[in-house]
Amino acid sequence: MVNASKIKQNVSKKKTKSQPSGNLNRVPAHLHCRVCYEVIPSGTDPRVCSEQDCIDRNIKDEKNQKQMRVWMFVFLGLFAFAFVGPIIFNSI
Ligand SMILES: [Zn+2]
Repeated sequence: MVNASKIKQNVSKKKTKSQPSGNLNRVPAHLHCRVCYEVIPSGTDPRVCSEQDCIDRNIKDEKNQKQMRVWMFVFLGLFAFAFVGPIIFNSI
């Protein structure tokens, strides 16, 4: 036989169990420094703390990323031309 009071107890137990995960959502919005992962206020741009070492390293990393992106496009272009080039030359 189904016991209604037992079901109610189980439901209330589940509610209390789910509370800790609910507390995690209450952490205020914040960011972490890209270099040292220290907590910084949200909306900070660039995403680094006020340490000069972190600022310098972030600038250096951004420059490297830009350079890598350029090289990726160059190689992608060469790779694409290796496939498309012969087709164009054969059709002439
Ligand atoms: Zn930092």
